[in-house]
Order: sequence, then structure tokens, then C-alpha cells
Amino acid sequence: MNILFAGSEAVPFSKTGGLADVCGALPVELARLGHHPAVILPAYRQTRYCGQPIEPLGIDFIVPVGSKMVAGRLLRSVMPGAAVPVYLVEQDQYFDRDGLYGADGKDYVDNCERFIFFSRAVLEAIRLLDLKVDVLHANDWQTGLTPAYLKIEYRKLARYRRIASLLTIHNMAYQGQFWHWDMLLTGLDWKYFNWRQMEFHGHLNLLKTGMVFADSISTVSPRYAQEIQSSPLGCGLEGVLQHRRATLSGILNGIDVHEWDPRSDPHLAANYNSDTVDQAKPICKAALQKELGLPRESSAPLVGIVGRLADQKGFDLVIDVMQRWVQTSDVQWAVLGTGEPKYHKALEKLAERFPKKVAVRLEFSAPLAHRIEAGADVFLMPSRFEPCGLNQLYSLRYGTVPVVRATGGLADTIVGYDPQLPNAAANGFAFQEYIAPALDEALRQACDAYRRPEVWRQLIAVGMRQDWSWTRSAKEYVELYQKTMERSDAAAK
Ligand code: ADP
Repeated sequence: MNILFAGSEAVPFSKTGGLADVCGALPVELARLGHHPAVILPAYRQTRYCGQPIEPLGIDFIVPVGSKMVAGRLLRSVMPGAAVPVYLVEQDQYFDRDGLYGADGKDYVDNCERFIFFSRAVLEAIRLLDLKVDVLHANDWQTGLTPAYLKIEYRKLARYRRIASLLTIHNMAYQGQFWHWDMLLTGLDWKYFNWRQMEFHGHLNLLKTGMVFADSISTVSPRYAQEIQSSPLGCGLEGVLQHRRATLSGILNGIDVHEWDPRSDPHLAANYNSDTVDQAKPICKAALQKELGLPRESSAPLVGIVGRLADQKGFDLVIDVMQRWVQTSDVQWAVLGTGEPKYHKALEKLAERFPKKVAVRLEFSAPLAHRIEAGADVFLMPSRFEPCGLNQLYSLRYGTVPVVRATGGLADTIVGYDPQLPNAAANGFAFQEYIAPALDEALRQACDAYRRPEVWRQLIAVGMRQDWSWTRSAKEYVELYQKTMERSDAAAK
């Protein structure tokens, strides 16, 4: 199968978040399975320094953006370690900037124009590069217009007639909403600016556009696919998703099992597998306590947290619970993250007042993230919502027991242990309602289980056995591409 991935970021060419990991890993895995993926991305300033060779193709093009004709150029590179071609769209006025979508905490004012240009370039590149494409796989609002251009303008041309389209939503909260006059920039007829297609409460909405025009829609976990069909997680677009629910599916992201492998992780004090975790974990825990200045108590449960310090991740609950637990229990806390100043302040205060219980690092550090995953006993993710989540999957692989709120991908990957109903499939602890007492109770259950070695060992063993690799996800995507092609063929008849 020939799949063209259109995305606004992909590792190692550009990255701001999880979208880049998916667009970097999934095509490589599809190639391993014998398919023929290619990737198309903007050539940002950071792309130039990504370490991959980039060569000019000598292909220039011009596309309309509103009343302007805008010139661009196609460059070629390749995914590291795989024969997956990567095409880069060069347009320095749009993409040679400090940030991908904004600078100094503000979005660029011409983001709509930039990604209209990129979306048109994707469709033009198919013709200019003579690409064989069975499925155009668009991702998030930045490429939401590509299924629309395909259906409205390009389907008239023979080479585009059989191209099916899939839109993957990585986070419903980001929709690419712009004022209505930006409709002029799309070059599409005003007749599409209606509540069933491109308009959303008087604005142009590019995510909605993709959801309406793509043959299939997917998101990054089955539970999130359900949740976004109603309020509040549908973020206003729940009606569109309900309408299109027959074409909506959820496929969990995979993890990079080479980067996150406790058997060979270079950042750890001791490497281990499921047979040696019992001996190695205390070494990793002691090293982490030493690194963070926490007392080296082996019997006190150590709770690890890594992530963006944002409302989405449940930090209001975390801080509420920590404030009480630091006074009443022997639990230690290791927190790594950056984000909203209010959480920085609250966490710093806790670390200052209770240095024997709380260690906080307000920075981005991949090596420390690895050491927390290995050295903590419990990994905490009480998210308000979580499209997929990766940290809980790293934890499972590292023999660190996750405590999560049962939402989105967390609900799909963590089977909660219940002391009343022991379950051989349990790999963590989960709570439902987004309230501090529910988190309290889940953490209390985890700490009780921690003191029962046979229960704890079983939880660790189940988690470490599971397969969260991209291979599993890629096979599901192949099935979805197949269905998408059938759907597109059926619609064309
Ligand atoms: P999201 O994409 O919503 O931020 P995920 O759990 O899907 O959440 O992925 C977050 C990724 O970013 C993980 O790989 C996590 O380890 C990493 N990460 C987040 N914050 C930090 C940090 N401060 N230091 C190191 N890694 C971090």
C-alpha cells in the first residue's frame, strides 16, 4: 500500500509534541511491514539542523493563497535508518522562523495562511513528484484542508481519482479556528462555509473541515474516540463526530521500544528485564533518591511524575493530594516538568518546605525522565483528559506501577487492581471521577499493594510482559487504510 503522510511535524525533522513522534515512527513501521509510505512536512528553520541529509530536487511550484500566487520548492530527505522518503516544502517567508506555530507564547498571526499554503503544496507534490498514493493520511488541523482540496478540486484529475483520505486527530482541543474572512485564503467557494462543513460558530475551522471531507477519521485511542463524541471532550465538535461515527476509530500510539528499554537504557544505574527487576529496581531507586537529594529510604514508596505542568495533566489534584500526604505519610515524590507558572510555584513551595519528601525539577530532561521511570515505584498520571498518553506505557515497560485517571488512552492501557476483585490482568491503579478523594483512594490502594510483595510483583510482571510497540499499532493502521480505500471507492460509485 502507498501512504502519503501529511503532517506539520515529524521526528527528527521538527517537533513540538506527540504528533511528531507518530509521524516519525508510524511510517518507518509501515515500511518494515512491506508498505510504501512517504512523508511530507514543512521545511522549518529547525528542520535544517535535524542531522538528516537534505537535498534539493529542482522542483519549484506556485499555488494560490487568496489573491496571491505563492512560490515554494520541494526538497528531499529520508527517515533515519529506513527507506522512507521525506519531502520538505520550502517557503522561507512562512517556515524559516524561530517556532513552528508561534513565538514568545503567541501564535503567528498568519498560521491559517501558512497551512493553507502547505495543504495546497501537499496536493501539488503528488503530481510534481509523480507519487503513487492510495491513502493520503492527514494529521490534525494543520493538514485538515488536504481532504477538502482532494475532494473539491483535485479529484477531477485522473491521478487523484482513487486517492482515499484519513484524518487523525491527536488532540481535539486544538482545532485551527480562524476568522471567517480567512475563507477567502482557502480559495474554496463560500458555499462550503456552512455549519455542516467548514464553519463553526461563525469561524473557519480547519479540523472540522478535515473531519467532514476525509473518508475516515481516527484518533489515538479507542476510549478517546468514544469520549470526543460528547461534551466536554468533543470541544464543540461532538455533533460532527456523532454524525460521522461509522467512520471514526481509535488506534493507540506505540512507544519507541529502543529508546525506552530498561535492558539497555544508558541513563540508568542498573539495566534489567522482567527476571532481574527485583534486584535492579532498588539500585535505580537509590540512585534517583541520591540524585534528587531525597533520603535513601528503600521502604518508602517513591511516586514519580513527568510531564507538561498543565491543567490537562491533573496538577490541581496532584498538588492538593501532595499537600496533605507530605504531612501524613512516608511517601516520597519526584516531579519533573515545565509548564504553567502557578504549578511551578506550588511545587517549588512544597519542595522547599518538605525537602525530605518532595523533589521537584522544573526543566526538560530526557535522561532524568528515564531515571524517574526506572527509579520510582509508582508513576502518577491523573489526567483530566488524555488522548493516548505515553508515560504510562514507559512505566509499564520499566516495572513502575501506574496510577491513572481512567480517561482516554489511560483507560485503554491500564487495568486497575481492586483488592476486592483481584484480576490477573491488572497492571496498575485507576480512578474514575476527577476529584481529589478519588485520587487519594487510588494512591492509598497502590501504597497498600506496594507493601504486599506478591501483589506488587504480579502487577509489575503483567506490565512488563505487554507489547506497546509501534508494530502492533501499525498493523491496525493497515487495516484502517484498507477500509478507508473501500469507503472511498464505494462513495465514488
Ligand atoms: P503529551 O504529549 O500530552 O505531553 P504524553 O504522555 O503523550 O503527553 O507524552 C509526553 C512526552 O514528553 C513523554 O515522552 C514524556 O516523557 C516527555 N516529557 C514531558 N515533559 C518532560 C520533561 N520535563 N522532561 C523530559 N521529558 C518530558
